[in-house]
Amino acid sequence: MADSVGLFETVKTLTEMLGPSGYEDRVQDWLESKWREAGCEVHRSRVGNLFAKVGGSGPKLLVAAHADEISFRVKSIDADGHLLLTSGTGGSELSPPHFAFVAQPCTVLTPEGEVPGTVGTVTGHVMTKEQRESNRVSWADIFLDIGARSREEALGWGVHVGCPVVADVKTRRVGHNLVGKAMDDRAALAIMTSWLEGIDRQELAYELWFGSTVQEEVGLVGAGSVEGFDLAIALEVGLAGDIPPVSELHIPSRLGAGPLLGHKDAAVHYDKEILRRLAEVAKREEIAIQHLVFLQFSSDGKMFIANDIPTAMVAYPTRYTHSPIETVDLRDLEATLALLKAFAITPSAERPVS
Ligand SMILES: [Zn+2]
Repeated sequence: MADSVGLFETVKTLTEMLGPSGYEDRVQDWLESKWREAGCEVHRSRVGNLFAKVGGSGPKLLVAAHADEISFRVKSIDADGHLLLTSGTGGSELSPPHFAFVAQPCTVLTPEGEVPGTVGTVTGHVMTKEQRESNRVSWADIFLDIGARSREEALGWGVHVGCPVVADVKTRRVGHNLVGKAMDDRAALAIMTSWLEGIDRQELAYELWFGSTVQEEVGLVGAGSVEGFDLAIALEVGLAGDIPPVSELHIPSRLGAGPLLGHKDAAVHYDKEILRRLAEVAKREEIAIQHLVFLQFSSDGKMFIANDIPTAMVAYPTRYTHSPIETVDLRDLEATLALLKAFAITPSAERPVS
């Protein structure tokens, strides 16, 4: 088992970094230096994907996660200096912004530095009848309040149309929960980084590689150019159905019950042989796992499979995905790491992939 204090600290460091899609540099720089320190050969692709050759010999196994996080972009600046927002992720503005970002601290990344703000909206004391009766948040209902009093002042602070805006919250422990932004997918990158502590490269049954991709949240973009591996594991946030508004018949997975094997999502069917081997390894090692079909979800694994790399999805259960309070259980992260470690030292030839 990993040292949970070390894993917690790595999760905290990585999740608190501001790394919206297209601006993953801080995350990639931090990982590059950690992975290099741990003895990996590291390189970055032209579009910013980071790869580390961990070592070992055998089939080339890529374990990958994405560096970017859910974000917004400044769409326009009104005369009073409020920043109107649009999505920083895929899809169109027809999808409303998630209400979970309302009243949360967010930061604008400008060429001149960071400008803090809060996502503002209309509240009860100033609502019109129409606003009170509408139960949806639209893009016109929210804005970033950076405390400027005019457009000119906002521009003077370096803000311009197109700047990324990202949640800026601390990651903390709440009971058994670990709560913060960007558990999707930095907790995965923390698991990979922790794996390198004390790794015995001699016992690896694969030539193990790590990947940290860019622009996953806008449509699996960075993963589109990943090629040349024999197999891959896409490491992701999973879902959890163990909260009052979600039925466990709808999402039959829960926090603290172990890693999820993702069999299918909205974009792809994952590789059944790798999934079977992961389940066998889990059984041998007595690691509790959960099986899941992801209803509305896709991962970089779709692009890996499209690029002829058989891929499985391994995920840690997560509540409130794509919000600033993404919630995981450290024990699931530890169990995910234990499963990956055991898989990587089990020769695939024990039951060859047919
Ligand atoms: Zn993700």
